[in-house]
Amino acid sequence: MSALFVESTHGKRHLCYLGYRYSLKRKNQNDSEYWICVKCQATITSYSDLSVEERDEYTHLPDESDKQILEIRKNLKRKACEESGPIDHLVEEAYHAINSQSQSNDLIVTIPSIRTMKNTVQKQRRKTRPPVPKSIEQLPLPMPDAY
Ligand SMILES: [Zn+2]
Repeated sequence: MSALFVESTHGKRHLCYLGYRYSLKRKNQNDSEYWICVKCQATITSYSDLSVEERDEYTHLPDESDKQILEIRKNLKRKACEESGPIDHLVEEAYHAINSQSQSNDLIVTIPSIRTMKNTVQKQRRKTRPPVPKSIEQLPLPMPDAY
C-alpha cells in the first residue's frame, strides 16, 4: 500500500499512510521526505515513488476516517470554487453521499458538524469570489475582473 497526500485543515501538505497522518518535518537531499505523525512522535520517510519506510512504533491505533474527512473537506472546497450553487446545498449533498456510502458508523460520528463544514466552504468561496456589493457606493474601484 502506498502513501497518499492530503491537505490538512490549515492547508498544509500531510501524508497519509495506513491510517496514520504525518506532517512534513524536512525534505532530504535525495528527494525523500521525512515525516512525523500528527498524534505521536513516530516518523517515516517517503520516496518519490510514494513508497514508505517506517521507523518507529505507534502509540495509538490508526484512524482511517481522519483521512476521509480531510478528503471530503478538500473536495467541497474545490466544488465551492468551481460551482456556483448554494453552499448549504453542496455540503448537504456531500453528507448524504457519505451516509449512503459509509459501511461503518464511526465516520459519521467523528465528522465535524455540518455547520462547521459550511463555514469552511463558505470561507473558501469568499477567497475566490468577492461578495456582491449591496449598493453602487460600495463598489470597489477599480472594478475587479470578477464583475
Ligand atoms: Zn502517531
